[in-house]
Amino acid sequence: VSKSKGRGTFHYFEASMNAAAQQRLLLENALRMAIEQEEFQLYYQPKAFCADGGLCGAEALIRWRRPGIGMMPPDAFIGIAEETGLIVPLGKWILKTACLQAKVWAGGRAGFRVAINLSPRQLLAEDFIAVLDDILSRTGVEPGWIELEITESLVMHDVDKATDLLRQIRRRGIHVAMDDFGTGYSSLSYLKLLPIQTLKIDRSFIKAYAGDPASNEAAFIKTIVSLGQILGITVVAEGVENQFQLALLQSCGCHVYQGYYLAPPLSADEFQCAWIDR
Ligand code: C2E
Ligand code: MG
Ligand code: MG
Ligand code: MG
Repeated sequence: VSKSKGRGTFHYFEASMNAAAQQRLLLENALRMAIEQEEFQLYYQPKAFCADGGLCGAEALIRWRRPGIGMMPPDAFIGIAEETGLIVPLGKWILKTACLQAKVWAGGRAGFRVAINLSPRQLLAEDFIAVLDDILSRTGVEPGWIELEITESLVMHDVDKATDLLRQIRRRGIHVAMDDFGTGYSSLSYLKLLPIQTLKIDRSFIKAYAGDPASNEAAFIKTIVSLGQILGITVVAEGVENQFQLALLQSCGCHVYQGYYLAPPLSADEFQCAWIDR
């Protein structure tokens, strides 16, 4: 803050900083309590094959039901959970809950997998592999019934550590997906090195496609799909909202899609009724 703007401005600035810091502290405390009280719920968004619409899995997406406040979306609290380290206990709960659900839905349904989002800090925690093994054995889930979604930021943090971790996960027979592909940096160089089975095209690419197959936006999507084909990995499109987007994905041979056009994230009960019992 420049002095020329005077004292009033400075005080105002300081006060608003404090308000923001206080807000964070309140949220952090609420989050800590919420973990103890288990105020969280996993929603599940179905994923289907582009070619025939057949169900092939679900992505687990966390929701926080704050008593007296309502439903909070993950973007409103995952960042703070990550910064404060609270993502570690929260992440264990997410893994355990999603694994138990995978047992119900994937057991007996060939190829069905529940995808679970992992934060970098959660994966980079010293004991992550031990925690994973513990949850696998305690829930009795088959490793093939789950898939772990990681982001480019994990890889950027420490490529060697990330590669080593992903290898250990792979050795257990668990699929790994690169989430939000195309939004980070130097994606191409490490894509070849990492032991991943799936690439998820970020929904911003799908959103940008307005329906003209000859547009640059279409070319981006087609390029990412063929990249996956060249590398021999599955490509999933997220955020598909209309038939034109799906038609483009079908025309270029994209494997799997998810998005409001198929279904929004659903509670476990809703998912069970609409997608399992039907
Ligand atoms: P993501 O993993 O890329 O998840 C996809 C997001 O797109 C979800 O938002 C989903 O509800 C939303 N979405 C799905 N279909 C459509 C569509 O057709 N149109 C639009 N506009 N959006 C669609 P959500 O549930 O709010 O989650 C946001 C992000 O929060 C996730 O992005 C993920 O990075 C993070 N997140 C969610 N659950 C977890 C979790 O359990 N653990 C961790 N570490 N992160 C999570
Ligand atoms: Mg995801
Ligand atoms: Mg994603
Ligand atoms: Mg995304």
